[in-house]
Amino acid sequence: MSYDHIFTSYLQSLKTEGRYRIFADLERLVGDAPYALWHSPSGKKKLIVWCSNDYLGMSQHPEVIQAMVEATQLYGAGSGGTRNISGTAYSHVNLEKEVADLHGKEKGLIFTSGYIANEATISSLAQALQNCVVLSDEKNHASIIQGIRAGGCERRVFRHNNLADLRANLSSLDPKRPKIIAFISVYSMDGDIAPIEAICDLAEEFNAITYLDEVHAVGLYGPQGAGVAAELGLQHRIDIIQANFAKAYGVIGGYITGSLPLVDYVRSAASGFIFTTSLPPAVVAAIHRSISILRQDTTLRDQLWHRVNLLKERLKKSSIPYHSANSHIVPVVVGNAPQCQDVCDILRDEYGIYVQPINYPTVPRGQERLRLTVTPSHTPEMINELGDALEDIWNRLNLCLAA
Ligand code: PLP
Repeated sequence: MSYDHIFTSYLQSLKTEGRYRIFADLERLVGDAPYALWHSPSGKKKLIVWCSNDYLGMSQHPEVIQAMVEATQLYGAGSGGTRNISGTAYSHVNLEKEVADLHGKEKGLIFTSGYIANEATISSLAQALQNCVVLSDEKNHASIIQGIRAGGCERRVFRHNNLADLRANLSSLDPKRPKIIAFISVYSMDGDIAPIEAICDLAEEFNAITYLDEVHAVGLYGPQGAGVAAELGLQHRIDIIQANFAKAYGVIGGYITGSLPLVDYVRSAASGFIFTTSLPPAVVAAIHRSISILRQDTTLRDQLWHRVNLLKERLKKSSIPYHSANSHIVPVVVGNAPQCQDVCDILRDEYGIYVQPINYPTVPRGQERLRLTVTPSHTPEMINELGDALEDIWNRLNLCLAA
């Protein structure tokens, strides 16, 4: 019996809609950022990457690489097991102390990814808090949504960043029910920022736990790169701060920080923490170095913001419509999947510029977009070239310009 026709027909429907995903096979060579070598069907081609989440280029920072190499030579390539079964290294424990200190919390806990951190934490909390309800921003990441599903509790979705809707949902719930408000500081696809203080006020009024995902903010915002809540002086009002080590820190892994009992509970109960091999000590060493650098030195951050402002000005000059949210992420909405793909194909094939189209389900249908991310290694000339290329393509494809 073959089931392949089922999968083929699913894939065909993606192709018909123009949202079948084709990955670019890239080699990002150290010292050559923001260029990468693309192994295209017709041979190798050099591209400028405009959609990396390695926001500060820390994955290629000489000290981060050195920390990883030295730790590999000392401790080997793998961690040897789950945290429970001989896979807890001294370096794991030190990194957990570092993230707790960064966020001013009692305890930290690290996971193999940001996705797992969200999924494991939220699902285990939902299981501990009887009859709990999670109030979830409608633009929350898939890992938060998956955590709520796995926790088997009620999910109330409130409109994106909409305090009136959040209040209405909170008011309609039995005051005795445990509640968690799950939200994100910098939303990845729109680049906008949550009204953190007002959400904390509502949480206090309705006795809800606050769960904040700072994945796109750590390393970039706040004193020592502790995130947006820290920048606003609100860290103490967030019960659980979750983030990862894969974006501005340039490595891999995720974490939570919070009170000692809460984090110890997650350590003791969350399947996604217990039953998986821990991060290799060499990876942990690289992460730790990256955090230490970004806690002390804002040079790369300052360069990033300079480039972000240049990019936004350049797009504005050509009336390319972008979300002008107050963050480093610059989404340019095209509005349908085939045209979004066309823009990316022309950028890649004619201009040597690589941007991956963002389609449903990552964004709603009709909101297909380019998600531009600039880094300190993008020069002002590169920014201008991108602007020129987009201006040309927008004219050729007759796409909507900003009003
Ligand atoms: N949270 C948000 C808001 C994200 O955008 C992502 C990934 O892009 C994650 C969590 C998952 O993080 P990771 O890539 O470390 O699994």
